[in-house]
Amino acid sequence: MKGALVGPEHISPIIDTVAGSPDPKEERKVVTAISPGVMPKAWIHGCPKDMVSSDDALQVHWYNEDFVILRQSKSIHFEAPFLYLIFGQEKAALFDTGATKKVETFPLQKTVEDLMRKRYGARRSEVELLVTHTHAHGDHVAADAQFAEQANTRLIGAKLDDCLPFFGFQDWPTQVAKFDLGARPLYLIPIPGHETTDIAIYDEKTGNVLSGDTVYPGRLYVTNWQAFCASLERLYDFLKDRPVRYFLGSHIEMSNQAGVDYPAGTEYQPDETPLEMDWNDFLNIREAVKKLGNEPKRDVHPKFIITPVRGGS
Ligand SMILES: [Zn+2]
Ligand SMILES: [Zn+2]
Repeated sequence: MKGALVGPEHISPIIDTVAGSPDPKEERKVVTAISPGVMPKAWIHGCPKDMVSSDDALQVHWYNEDFVILRQSKSIHFEAPFLYLIFGQEKAALFDTGATKKVETFPLQKTVEDLMRKRYGARRSEVELLVTHTHAHGDHVAADAQFAEQANTRLIGAKLDDCLPFFGFQDWPTQVAKFDLGARPLYLIPIPGHETTDIAIYDEKTGNVLSGDTVYPGRLYVTNWQAFCASLERLYDFLKDRPVRYFLGSHIEMSNQAGVDYPAGTEYQPDETPLEMDWNDFLNIREAVKKLGNEPKRDVHPKFIITPVRGGS
């Protein structure tokens, strides 16, 4: 459908910055060049119960030189969340601190500091690391304390009272905030519904959307149905005229068999589906939620399972 910006048409303005100039026949008014990146063939995914894990505490994957994805080992915590580190010219931002507090088993701060030094070299001391969150659930904030009182590091609490003033939100949840890391603008879109503090982060440079526990290949737990519906619309409205490469969420719970998930608490996922979702996947989630209307119920789809709950997860 012309102008509806679905599927490949939506992502057509993506231009490989290495490849050069936009197609002159391109009809869209604004063509934004986005930086390409690569996803790994597989993530660390735990090991069978009767074996000793050989996984590192964290898998570090350089999507490109300014965008790092980290996965916590399933052998440390079954939630095995994904964390994201984005580098700008003046600041860097870490989104989420994982599911484990103990530095002995989960040395997140040290890992991130090593990455900062790798990226910035001697300039590290001039670059502030912001530690912030996709939302306030325990498996996203557990290692926050590792970053407290570290040099050139600012820890921003996940509660709305802490993060909204920092990012300049005045009208939650209807306002989108822009935050620049230095030639690296990020847009923060409020998307409560899974929990109360959910924020999606749109990284203009890569076209990636950090989508927390709202858009990911797994059980999309919804604690506030009305808020969740409104949040998907808000996210759609914001993204529909912008290039989107991937939605990158915080977990993988689906297997590579359509509609089949690993049960909650699973510590070994040898056949998990890839992390990344695309614009069409997002449209499918939006459509599924719309179809349920005012009657939320568990609803199984090939790549996700809508899972309304009371109280949160
Ligand atoms: Zn959550
Ligand atoms: Zn989570």
